[in-house]
Amino acid sequence: MPKTSSESQAASKSVDSSDGQPGTQPSGKRAAVVEAFELAAANGKTLSPRLFYETVQQSPLAISITDNKADILHVNPAFETLTGYASEDVLGKNESILSHNQTPAEVYQTLWSTIQGGQTWRGTLVNRRKNGEAYLAELNISPVFDSQGGINYFLG
Ligand code: FAD
Repeated sequence: MPKTSSESQAASKSVDSSDGQPGTQPSGKRAAVVEAFELAAANGKTLSPRLFYETVQQSPLAISITDNKADILHVNPAFETLTGYASEDVLGKNESILSHNQTPAEVYQTLWSTIQGGQTWRGTLVNRRKNGEAYLAELNISPVFDSQGGINYFLG
């Protein structure tokens, strides 16, 4: 997960804590998405997977979902607009397709150690659109935890 300096990206994560409460983050805070499910259930409503899909698709914020090597699994229309890449251009490609090669390697090392350590990395990268144009991307890149606390996906 990229955006210009005037744009921001959304991130959410769901974590199972050791106390067995699904959706509880290591900080003890309930993940917002879990709270939304619980609130809806309390009101007798159900939030469908379709709603979550449409929320991602219709977000004005550029969103990408990757595997644990940053190979792209999904991008939303705002990502396509921002980068100039259609979804089919980037699916299966690494996020490094956006790299402008002006970012020092140390920045990427910090990025990776942060997200592989289970934290959100926030920072600015020089990115390159499909047409070669450079832009500043202010990124939030987060791990997505599975029910065992493993990290198999990232959200940027
Ligand atoms: P490389 O030489 O491949 O990597 C530079 C350094 O990064 C390496 O020395 C290593 O320390 C570290 N690194 C790279 N890949 C891994 C890995 N799989 N595991 C551990 N360490 C690793 N990059 C951008 O430039 N722009 C983006 O918008 C962007 N968005 C991203 C969104 C998400 C969700 C994720 C997970 C990553 C994103 N990245 C982005 C990072 C991208 O995947 C590359 O790591 C980065 O572009 C550097 O790639 P490179 O080929 O230029 O350099």
